[in-house]
Amino acid sequence: RIAYVNGAYLPHADAGVHVEDRGYQFGDGVYEVCEVRAGHMVDERRHLERLVRSLNELRIRLPMPLAALGVVLRETIRRNRVRNGLVYLQVTRGVARRDHYFPDPATPPSLVVTARSVDPARADAVAGEGIAVITVPDNRWERVDIKTIGLLPNVLAKQAAKQAGAREAWFVDASGHVTEGGSTNAWIVTGDGRLVTRPAEGGILRGITRTVMLEVAEALQLRVDERPFTVAEARAAREAFVTSATNLATAVVRIDGHLIGDGRPGAVARALRENFHKYAQTGR
Ligand code: PLP
Repeated sequence: RIAYVNGAYLPHADAGVHVEDRGYQFGDGVYEVCEVRAGHMVDERRHLERLVRSLNELRIRLPMPLAALGVVLRETIRRNRVRNGLVYLQVTRGVARRDHYFPDPATPPSLVVTARSVDPARADAVAGEGIAVITVPDNRWERVDIKTIGLLPNVLAKQAAKQAGAREAWFVDASGHVTEGGSTNAWIVTGDGRLVTRPAEGGILRGITRTVMLEVAEALQLRVDERPFTVAEARAAREAFVTSATNLATAVVRIDGHLIGDGRPGAVARALRENFHKYAQTGR
């Protein structure tokens, strides 16, 4: 495997960043994960737009023009011979002597890109079974709209899920409403067939997959309510599912040990998953 690190394509095993990189010391950086399908990035434009937004919110410079960044992403995918999988990119505020204040504005931001293959059959097998989730208090900071690499609450929540035999953790706010998963957006389908997902302005990351799925839902003439839902409502739901670039739509069949519906992935989650790539923009 090959990784791109600040201008060089290096063997993955030798690809390191400096000990005084601000990403390493402060979590002072942002990232994106983009699906690769048939050798092309899915929704590249939207991922790069979100990257620019995250960088602007943190006042970190774009390490290179977007067109050049696209070339680096494609070259990393090519050098790793990824047909189906993921490309990961991370930008930090760069390398400087440890000090909380921003470094000299001339400090170049750091850019790292990796890519790896994922067997689509395996991902489909997971989706075919459905996943279990647990719920945990949402103890994150208020700027979860920024896709920062500072993911310690998410790491702890997902590890707790794993230790409970589940795959994802759903964060729950102080009023008992689900915000989102540790690395996914959260959805339910109510008894009367309405899709429910939390508004993007309401304490979640605006998932690219979430945005595309809203378009898929509209095309399939599904009724959607963008509003918060409680854990109790989710437990009683007909279906539940998560969305992300790595999971597309994947059914949730258990919440804190309680079966959702009949414990099998539901028709809505399946339809959204099957139709996703008709609406996502691949190769742009
Ligand atoms: N919410 C969180 C906290 C995430 O980390 C992610 C993806 O990593 C998502 C939602 C889903 O976003 P996307 O659909 O853009 O992958």
